[in-house]
Amino acid sequence: MKRYFIHTFGCQMNVNDSLRMSEVLAKLSYTPTPTPDDADLIILNTCAIREKAEDKMLSALGRYKPVKLSRGALIGVGGCVAQQEKDRLIKKVPYVDFVFGPDNIAKLPEIISRVEQERERVVETAFVDSEEYVFPRANAETSRGKITEFVTVMKGCDNVCSFCVVPHTRGREVSRAFPDVLTEVADLARVGVREVTLIGQNVNSYKGGISFAQLLLRTVEVPGIERVRFTTSHPHDLSDELIDAFRTQPKIAPHFHLPVQSGADRILKMMRRDYTVEQYLERLEKLRAARPGIAVTTDIIVGFPGETDEEFELTMKLTEQVRYENQFSFIYSPRPKTGAALREKDWGSVPHEVKIARLERLQKLQRKICGEITAAQVGLEVEVLVEGHSKYDAAKRFGRTPENRTVNFDGDAPAGALVKVLVERATPNQLMGRQTVVVMAPTVMPPPAEALAGVQPDRFPLVEA
Ligand code: SAM
Ligand code: SF4
Repeated sequence: MKRYFIHTFGCQMNVNDSLRMSEVLAKLSYTPTPTPDDADLIILNTCAIREKAEDKMLSALGRYKPVKLSRGALIGVGGCVAQQEKDRLIKKVPYVDFVFGPDNIAKLPEIISRVEQERERVVETAFVDSEEYVFPRANAETSRGKITEFVTVMKGCDNVCSFCVVPHTRGREVSRAFPDVLTEVADLARVGVREVTLIGQNVNSYKGGISFAQLLLRTVEVPGIERVRFTTSHPHDLSDELIDAFRTQPKIAPHFHLPVQSGADRILKMMRRDYTVEQYLERLEKLRAARPGIAVTTDIIVGFPGETDEEFELTMKLTEQVRYENQFSFIYSPRPKTGAALREKDWGSVPHEVKIARLERLQKLQRKICGEITAAQVGLEVEVLVEGHSKYDAAKRFGRTPENRTVNFDGDAPAGALVKVLVERATPNQLMGRQTVVVMAPTVMPPPAEALAGVQPDRFPLVEA
């Protein structure tokens, strides 16, 4: 049997794509190996969202070169950098055997065979038309023992945010037909999964036969499913129907990731985000009225071309005002062929040290808010879906609250159970406490040896942000 190693960079979309790659490779009788050193095939599943991610990919490639030289391992590059660079990557890195885009995962057997049999270096980066695109169905068996899973509901993006490379690397939006999504969720529920996260670049614009709100309402009805989450949403597509779904269906978990990007209207306009801060806050207010206590997280870019000190202060003010549960904040990174990169000279670059200083201030503020939010949980009883044992202490359990807060606690419930935990301590990133009562047993009892095995063993040895 041949062995493969996948190094995954970037977002959950890529993690899911890596899963699909391993399913394809399993059919070719490849087995995973935890180290690249004894691999016969190394795949880098890459991210192009920021320049740093690309640099990391290139330095990882350099580290894998000796494996190629010593064992003759094949090296393939997939994901967004592959899609962006195409044959340029093959020319730039002479020991890369093949390059394939996110739409070409199903072609891996053919690509590998061409490399092995015909000694060709292969580049497959064509987008598949929306009418012809077939979403790879997950093999539910590979999820056995997992309590939470991701389910792809759409691919690509039709927006044109001026900073973002995704429309170039992932192509036009294609939604997966809703019966297909529900079948995958039901298959996962049968092997014990109790929480699913529906994923796509902009799930609120889902068009797979029913609206996204209806898709959520149908998903929670799948027997065995206790919680449904989703990511990511564009604020300008956040409909009243979706807000209503939060009001009426408690199994839609009270967590909403709503990337705002900036607190300044002028910057939002230059980013082509199609909403003002006031409109964003109005949506948020409606959402919070529909589901009091909902945890809201966001993405922020600091140092977008032309961002002034005053405009950055507006982002700080918005952060204070919304009191985000958490923020993913990034320094603006110019990406090839994007509107902002093309106009950066006219708009004016923000000096790197200013970007760093702004990011540090914003992250410090967010850490303070995170600390205050988690501290307010001490003394309360929270509901936790047990996912496995704690990575800090194997005798403890780990799980998450409906708001997606991480909880490590003393208790004996198996993975898949819903329990109540009394919160005794908190840090900005986690709650700690003890189990008080088991609310619901798991739907599928895990075998004893594995009952507490997972915080899942990493099926992919490496995932880098
Ligand atoms: N579709 C999501 C949305 O509309 O919010 C975003 C997906 S993107 C993969 C995740 C985040 O990366 C974005 O929300 C943005 O904050 C950040 N990002 C994207 N392009 C970037 C760039 N050129 N520089 C810095 N951060 C960027
Ligand atoms: Fe990128 Fe904007 Fe599409 Fe999100 S909505 S993936 S930020 S273009």
